[in-house]
Amino acid sequence: RAKSNGRGRAEIFDAALRTELEARAKLEADIRAGLATDEFELHYQPVMSVATGELRSYEALIRWRHPEHGMIPPNDFIPAAEESLLICEIGRWVLDHATRQLAEWTRQDPHGHGHVTMAVNISARHLASTSLVDEVRHALEHSGLDAARLVLEITETVLLDEPTADAHLRDLRNLGVTVSLDDFGTGYTSIGQLQKLQVDTLKIDQSFLRSDDPATQALVQLMITAAHAFNLDVVAEGVETQEQLDRLATIGCELAQGYYLGRPQPAADTGVVAGTV
Ligand code: C2E
Ligand code: MG
Ligand code: MG
Ligand code: MG
Repeated sequence: RAKSNGRGRAEIFDAALRTELEARAKLEADIRAGLATDEFELHYQPVMSVATGELRSYEALIRWRHPEHGMIPPNDFIPAAEESLLICEIGRWVLDHATRQLAEWTRQDPHGHGHVTMAVNISARHLASTSLVDEVRHALEHSGLDAARLVLEITETVLLDEPTADAHLRDLRNLGVTVSLDDFGTGYTSIGQLQKLQVDTLKIDQSFLRSDDPATQALVQLMITAAHAFNLDVVAEGVETQEQLDRLATIGCELAQGYYLGRPQPAADTGVVAGTV
């Protein structure tokens, strides 16, 4: 009896595993097909100067316009893509499109866009791959965008897990691109470690802005002070109210991003110029 029970459980487990593997394979095949048929699109969210309200940067955020499931947010497919090399193909697609978009906006509106930068999210696996540096160089050459106007957003996990990440970051910064540490404060990087990291900008995770707790506020102030001491720029993510924006001005945070300042929008809706790629 026990034996047959055990086998029964093993069969259920096998079936569950098979279903999961099939679902994963289906998602991967769907992503591959979606890349081939242009189902992905980028939305652009502004990053503004806290003091002047000037546009400083856009962050490119991917969406998947799925033929059956409608608009799929990145959190629903990027994690799966990160488990395979597909994330590198997605990353390359994003790099190509985002750089071309900013180059196009700059051609249409040199005055308004000449100093604006474009931020692209890069996954750990892509940063670890030996091809990223060439892909970035290619995207810049192909779009004609100056390297100084491309920002690569990476997360802390990248820096801890990948011994090659450091070398690749150095190569990327030698190309002239800027590196930004995304979601800072949610991982394991201590403020002291910031000094040694190959990054130019710190993005304080939006969870810190949500909290009214005085201790959390003090922590944000500390992060900003430390970042400035290490010559890093600071972007506060997730600004949703005027009150939050005022608080950032008071504590000397120079850059902000959030729904209050502008939601991620398709290129055609960003409002400044019409040119889309
Ligand atoms: P992230 O890089 O930290 O991007 C910020 C996320 O916060 C975006 O969600 C944005 O829409 C959202 N957000 C911005 N302002 C506010 C606000 O005021 N309130 C709230 N509640 N949310 C705000 P989104 O577009 O859903 O992207 C989620 C995550 O997916 C990104 O987090 C990033 O980690 C990943 N992602 C997005 N696009 C790409 C991509 O092209 N490549 C890779 N590898 N990852 C991407
Ligand atoms: Mg980001
Ligand atoms: Mg973030
Ligand atoms: Mg994030």
